[in-house]
Amino acid sequence: MNESIWLDNIEIPEFPKLNYEAKTEVLIIGGGIAGILTAYYLKNKGIDCILVEKNRICHGVTAGTTAKITAQHGLIYADILKSDGKDKAEMYLKANLSALENYKRLCKDIDCDFELKDNYVYSQSDRSGLEKEIGALEKIGYKAELVDTPNLPLKTVGAVKFLNQAQFHPIKFIKEIVKDLKIFENTFVLEVDGKTVVTNCGKIKAENIVVAIHFPFINTHGSYFLKLYQHRSYALALKGAQKLDGMYVSDSKTGLSFRNYNDLMILIGGSHRTGKIGGSYNGIEQFARIHYPQSKIQYRWATQDCMSLDKKPYIGRYSKNTADMYVASGFNKWGITGAMVSAMILSDMISGKTNEFQEVFSPSRSILKPQLAVNGFEAVTNILNPFGKRCPHMGCSLKWNKAERTWDCPCHGSRFTDDGKLLNNPANGNLKS
Ligand SMILES: Cc1cc2nc3c(=O)[nH]c(=O)nc-3n(C[C@H](O)[C@H](O)[C@H](O)COP(=O)(O)OP(=O)(O)OC[C@H]3O[C@@H](n4cnc5c(N)ncnc54)[C@H](O)[C@@H]3O)c2cc1C
Repeated sequence: MNESIWLDNIEIPEFPKLNYEAKTEVLIIGGGIAGILTAYYLKNKGIDCILVEKNRICHGVTAGTTAKITAQHGLIYADILKSDGKDKAEMYLKANLSALENYKRLCKDIDCDFELKDNYVYSQSDRSGLEKEIGALEKIGYKAELVDTPNLPLKTVGAVKFLNQAQFHPIKFIKEIVKDLKIFENTFVLEVDGKTVVTNCGKIKAENIVVAIHFPFINTHGSYFLKLYQHRSYALALKGAQKLDGMYVSDSKTGLSFRNYNDLMILIGGSHRTGKIGGSYNGIEQFARIHYPQSKIQYRWATQDCMSLDKKPYIGRYSKNTADMYVASGFNKWGITGAMVSAMILSDMISGKTNEFQEVFSPSRSILKPQLAVNGFEAVTNILNPFGKRCPHMGCSLKWNKAERTWDCPCHGSRFTDDGKLLNNPANGNLKS
């Protein structure tokens, strides 16, 4: 039961392990939705591309997603309008609406349970935040609706509604688009040395490298160890819960998210910074018992995503000093549209075209945001803490997660089994015994 709903009853195509010294125009590291969509777009542009995945494709965060396809990422537009101005807010919206349109077009020919659904961001306490978001959206030319009583078993003060967004089965989608891609599984990238990538089973020389491994592990450029942290969430798929009229998510980072898949309802919650106390399944199980007493838990899983400093992902050149290395990360739990935006931007940049959205998502934008101080504080206190097992990524002291029986890093979110095997990066190897 402790496996994502999307991995049950599905056959994902298998790919060989790298077994020769390869050369390619583009090497993509990471077989989640961001890497795979980028490879798909590059291939469609006629660019020679290899993708390597350390385990099996689609078994990372992409397997644990809620798979809502929407340009509504919490109450983000008021924030972007305030911090970056109208042009950038418009571009963020346009990029994500284009991503939605691209999914609509691709999914026409793919059997992946794609359905148009309205998306709602509800609040339990802050009506003025919802009004501000509606105002910001109006300023950038998007008509969203303020709904007074969203159809949820919660007391709310309203919700912002985006019409005609979508939901799908992410793995059914990916399993079709990977068919003609050149992929090597069980091929673990250990080091990137200029244009040579060293894996556990040989080297690859590449003109361009795309790092789409969720949390980038190359620390010498880009300062991703300062720009990102991870946030863990818990999911239940409930039978006999509620037929919803749309997809719902809270305006709060620790609130609940709801969507249906066939006759099941996916309920997500209990979120917390990885390596810190909080969440787990208790809260959502209790919520289900109280509000859906007749329901039964069919699936249960936990997952985590990378959170950026300013709620926007990092898509583009890995850093100012790495001309031919690119990144797609920091999706803030909106990496389904984020992955499509990555594919659009990176395939243009690599083929020598300027993409109209690239500046908004540039990984080299300012890092002077309040979250930087929080990330810095966590790193310093946990690196200096002399007790406990050390994370091989940067030497932070790991915390024991009793509920999942894992060692979790409060700095960057790497996780390990109780006997030290790597579960989540940015650490790139097991714990030393
Ligand atoms: C609870 C939750 C709900 C979410 N719901 C939504 C939603 O409704 N809508 C939405 O838009 N987004 C959602 N997201 C976010 C979205 O699912 C993720 O942002 C997205 O799946 C990330 O994809 P990815 O390709 O970057 O990462 P991953 O899927 O993790 O892929 C990265 C891959 O890289 C591989 N890798 C790592 N290191 C190496 C290495 N050294 N060598 C080779 N391979 C390596 C890993 O094995 C992995 O397969 C949600 C996230 C969470 C946590």
